[in-house]
Amino acid sequence: MRTVLIIGLGRFGKHLALRMAELGNEVMVVDTDEAKVEEMLPFVTRAQIGDCMNEKILRSLGVTNFDFCFVAIGDNFQASLEITSQLKELGARYVIAKADRTIHEKFLLRNGADAVIHPERDAAMRAARAYGARNVFDYLELTEDFSVIEVAVPDSWAGKSIGELRVQSKYNVNIIACKIGGKIRPVAGADYVLSKEQHIIIAGNADKCAIIPELP
Ligand code: ATP
Repeated sequence: MRTVLIIGLGRFGKHLALRMAELGNEVMVVDTDEAKVEEMLPFVTRAQIGDCMNEKILRSLGVTNFDFCFVAIGDNFQASLEITSQLKELGARYVIAKADRTIHEKFLLRNGADAVIHPERDAAMRAARAYGARNVFDYLELTEDFSVIEVAVPDSWAGKSIGELRVQSKYNVNIIACKIGGKIRPVAGADYVLSKEQHIIIAGNADKCAIIPELP
């Protein structure tokens, strides 16, 4: 369980708060808009009305107690920047700011954000990766150079064992699981033989996965 502060209840902040709470985390939300705060009351641990550009209010939240502080304000960049920088000055451990434009990301990082989420761009990148390559069924980017990708078993791999294919030593990526009839199972070892009916889950550098010639 993590303790999370979310400032700003636009669509992003709201969805984030609901899901974080659903996952069992302790969530506090703050917004200047009373109606938005009230709407969240049944779902989160604490909800407060307040303008976080006001240092006294921000200080009163006890920002050092949270594992993560999210600044989920997009429209008012000045507010987003000031709150991000103030959170860090007050000793917030890890500040994640939402950016609506790439240029904002740079300023937020320079002014104290530990990480920046650019929701539209990030979602577009994921969608392009997931749907832009034929036969990629799912895609999860964990870091810039490490992803988990679900693909169909290439024709030339069907009937061969993982050891025989030497995917790990050839491409430095790993086949970590297979999916049959909607169920994911870890692959038992090098002797495991792939079949055309299944999908495989590959973990590693996405660019390396993209150059595997057998993958469609
Ligand atoms: P969306 O996620 O819907 O795209 P957005 O980033 O465009 O949202 P904004 O309208 O910028 O959303 O603001 C998000 C929320 O942040 C709003 O509910 C707004 O009331 C709140 N907010 C803006 N400034 C402050 C502030 N200084 N202190 C607290 N909350 C604020």
